[in-house]
Amino acid sequence: MLITATTALAKPTIYILATGGTIAGSGSGELSSSYTSGVVTVDKLLAAVPQINEIATIKGEQISQIGSQEMNNEVWLKLAKRTNELLNSGKADGVVITHGTDTMEETAYFLDLVVKSDKPIVMVGAMRNSASMSADGPLNLFNAVNVAISKDAVGKGVMVTMNDEIHAAREVTKTHTTGVDTFKSPNTGKIGSVFYGNVKFYMSPTRKHTINSDFDITKITELPRVDIIYSHANDNADFVEIALKNGTKGIISAGMGNGNPYPSVLNALQNGAKSGIIIVRDSRVGAGETTRNGEVNDDEMGFVASDNLNAQKARVLLMLALTKTNDRAKIQEIFYTH
Ligand code: GLU
Repeated sequence: MLITATTALAKPTIYILATGGTIAGSGSGELSSSYTSGVVTVDKLLAAVPQINEIATIKGEQISQIGSQEMNNEVWLKLAKRTNELLNSGKADGVVITHGTDTMEETAYFLDLVVKSDKPIVMVGAMRNSASMSADGPLNLFNAVNVAISKDAVGKGVMVTMNDEIHAAREVTKTHTTGVDTFKSPNTGKIGSVFYGNVKFYMSPTRKHTINSDFDITKITELPRVDIIYSHANDNADFVEIALKNGTKGIISAGMGNGNPYPSVLNALQNGAKSGIIIVRDSRVGAGETTRNGEVNDDEMGFVASDNLNAQKARVLLMLALTKTNDRAKIQEIFYTH
């Protein structure tokens, strides 16, 4: 084949979709821990890492400018639809999403379940704002673009790239309030590493995602209300009762240990299940499976077990599951396959 100068030099096109967060945060000084999230625009973010232009044709778009504690269904749907459109129209070879770290794991899992493309989708953020000494955003962004152009990243679903590590969307969680090594995958470990742009994968996610998931963003226009209720010693059923009264469609019970709620809470959850609300039994522990019919008889109570998803990810999956079905057995199957 004749290789022309154009084909030899053709660089992949990567869209950077900016949503806000600390990576776009600015503070009151190099050593100040106080700062405002999401104030730096996508153009300024990209200008801080000119090296990415050497490896890809970069295009930036501002989707939102928020701290990710403000993340909501509207931004999720907008982000998912735009990502889908860019990847499936052939405009982009990969998408990098800059995002606050607080809810990055939820956005990552949502996109992993609804975007229909096997091209790389990489989420990235920072733990130190752009004005801080040793800000981690620029290198994290450089690494994220390198993951997005990597052939080995194709088919891995949505990934989170922070602190030289690559994590799968389903597994990753924020584990430390301030540390740069906050993102971990407690049940499986990271799937790869990226060191100054050098990308290596060691594992692939096996659960259904992106092109193989049961969900399709083009068919989803709104998401049902699902609440998370956290358990503790000497608990009471008030929050369950209020959620049921206020029209929740599903409850994730972040129970103690292997998903054990306090007796009065268990009783209230059973009443919810009897009235047709989907109750997913999960754990507040943060790692390991909440096993079906452990100390609680899920068959008898009419509950769904969360497998090993943490509560915030179980909430994302249940919202999407409820857009398709209200059947408990089918929802349990969705939890065992996604
Ligand atoms: N609360 C902010 C956010 O999630 C700061 C956390 C961060 O980005 O590291 O957007």
